Formats: sequence, C-alpha cells, structure tokens
Amino acid sequence: MNKKFLLASLKASASDWNSWHWQFKNRVTKYAALKRLLGSVPSDPTSFKKVAAAYPAAITPYYLSLIRDIRFTDPICAQSIPRREEISCGRRLPADPLEEDLKMPVPKLIHRYPDRCLAMVTEICAVYCRHCNRKRFWAARRGSLKKRWQSMLEYLATARQIREVIISGGDPLTLEDAVLDKLLGSLRALPHIEILRIGSRIPVVMPMRITRDLCRMLKRHRPLWFNTQFNHPAEITPEAARACNRLQEAGIPVSNQSVLLKGVNDSPDIMKALLNGLQKISVRPYYLFHCDPARGCEHFRTDVQSGIALMEAMRQQCSGLCIPQYVVDTPGGAGKIPLYPLSRTLQNDLKTNKHFFDKFT
Ligand SMILES: *Cc1c(COP(=O)(O)O)cnc(C)c1O
Ligand code: SF4
Repeated sequence: MNKKFLLASLKASASDWNSWHWQFKNRVTKYAALKRLLGSVPSDPTSFKKVAAAYPAAITPYYLSLIRDIRFTDPICAQSIPRREEISCGRRLPADPLEEDLKMPVPKLIHRYPDRCLAMVTEICAVYCRHCNRKRFWAARRGSLKKRWQSMLEYLATARQIREVIISGGDPLTLEDAVLDKLLGSLRALPHIEILRIGSRIPVVMPMRITRDLCRMLKRHRPLWFNTQFNHPAEITPEAARACNRLQEAGIPVSNQSVLLKGVNDSPDIMKALLNGLQKISVRPYYLFHCDPARGCEHFRTDVQSGIALMEAMRQQCSGLCIPQYVVDTPGGAGKIPLYPLSRTLQNDLKTNKHFFDKFT
C-alpha cells in the first residue's frame, strides 16, 4: 500500500506518520476501516468479525504500508489480517500448548528455567500477529499492571537463582518510556539480576517507536539485550533498519527470533533473503521457532522434517553468522529443543518416540 495514499485517507501529515503515538492511535482494528484503506480485504466481513471477536485485530498504518498484494499469499496480510482458519479448526489444539499457565509462580511471570524467567508486562501489542502463540490473552480481561508488577518484583526479590529477566508481553514497547524506565530500574535494583532482555516486535511493526529518547533510557539499563521478530525480508525496510541501528548504537545487541510460518517464510529463497537481510543490518538470527501447536495457529504450521530440510539448505547457502537455531518448544522441563539437520538419529527418535513428539511437532 502506498504511504501517501494512506496518509491522505487518514488525513495525516508526514510528521504524524513518524510519531509512534499517532501510529498506535491509528491502528486499524475494524473490517470497515481496513476495507476503506485497502480497497478490498482478503477475508469476508462475517469471518473477519467472528475471528476478531475471539482474537482482536490491530494493524499499524506503517505495517499496512508494507502490503504489496491484498491476498493471504502476501506475508504482511497473512501475519496481520484475521482469517477464517483461525477459528475454523475449532478447539482441536490447546490454547496453551506450552503449559505456560502452570509455570507461573505469580500471575504472568513464567519461570521454567532455573536462572531466567519471562515477565509478561502487558497484553497489548502494536500489531496482533495472527500466528502468535499467546493469542489466548488478547481478548481476556486485564487486571491492574501496577499490582501485577508488584507481585512480580516481590517474587524476583526472593528468587535469588534468577540472573536474567526477559521483559515480554504482549509488547513491552507499547508502554511509555517513563513506565518502562521505572520497571527496568526496579529490576536493576535487585543485585542478583545481572541481565535484562526485552522481547519486542516493535522494530518490525512500528519502528518509529525506537526514538532517540527511548534508546538513551535503555542504554542506562545495560547489559540489556533486545530480541525482535522479523519473519519475512519484506519487513526489513529502511525504517526498521534505522530502528535496529539506533538500538545497536546505544550498545544494545539486537537478535532475531523468527517463527517458521507456512506460506510466509517456509521456502528456501525467502528464508535465505530473510537471513541475509538480517545479517546486512547486523541483527543476529538467534532462533527459528517451529510454529507451536496453539489454538488458532494451525494453518501456519509446517512439519518438522521440512523445517529440518530447510535448515540444511540454509547451512549450505548462508554464512554461519546467519544461521539461527531451529527449535521446537515443549511443555514442562524440556523447554526449547534444538532440531539439527544432522539428525538421522533424531529422525529415528521421531519414529520411535512418535507418541511424544506428535504432541508438539
Ligand atoms: C524462551 C524462554 C526463555 C529464554 O530461553 P533462551 O533459550 O535463554 O532464549 C525463558 N523463559 C521462558 C518461559 C521462555 O519461553
Ligand atoms: S508482538 Fe509478539 S506477543 Fe504481540 S501478537 Fe505479535 S508475536 Fe504475539
């Protein structure tokens, strides 16, 4: 979609476009608004509304501007526009396949590895990614954030074995600078917490959020690591590159966690362009997640064997610096399990432990 056309339709100026508050406030959530901006929508209105009632929609004007073709074969449409398949598979898959809800010592703090934990500090995102494995939280009622943090901080103060806290969500960068600053500061005040990590898709879906002020603030809380989620080379725009560069200039290493998504990035050409594109902006590919068997995500799932074959091809065709670890996440203590191309052994395991692996793969 043409940015100029979107600006005119939204009666906005170029400086509005560059303001993250404007982008956030003008997120498209309704069928009618999307139809008005795009001219057509790849979903029919009834499905769109039914899906959005279960799993809300929100798309920033910036992310809409990356659409090239208004069909679900377009990677931006596929990742952001509600689609019938999200509910048509019914309740066949669990809403919480990783059983995260069982690993929360206090609400919204997942502690499943001894030395690191993940704090979901909000359920709000700039764009609701249709493949999100935490989509079960979007429509749920939210309690007070202040209370949530209070109980998280109390837990973290006593959990001396934790040396790294991952601030995630939702998207933590939907919070205002001052709020984030306070939160990071109170984590920094705990002497056993050595490392902070932010997990955020903001550089991809609303890169204007990465302001100089934000970077100055984050810089004070180092060592801080930043993980984002580019899934397709079309997302590596000059704006996104600038956002990553600002973080890097503030001394914050930026890594990438992609999700392997059917029809979006499961072809060798696309994956290679994505990995090489990330290397060009100095963003290190960290994980490639096998798409979790979460309810509402079934249509995005590929099989593990083709994922392994894809990684085998990447190992041949790409620099080692571009190679992420391909992992499948599992419930309970096992956590993330790397899947290696070498694996004749694994392939045999998959056969002999079919029952175990069928659940996640
Ligand atoms: C993925 C994850 C982590 C971090 O794992 P790393 O392998 O260190 O990236 C921590 N806690 C939870 C709950 C996770 O899902
Ligand atoms: S930004 Fe992250 S948490 Fe939010 S919808 Fe996308 S994948 Fe899910």
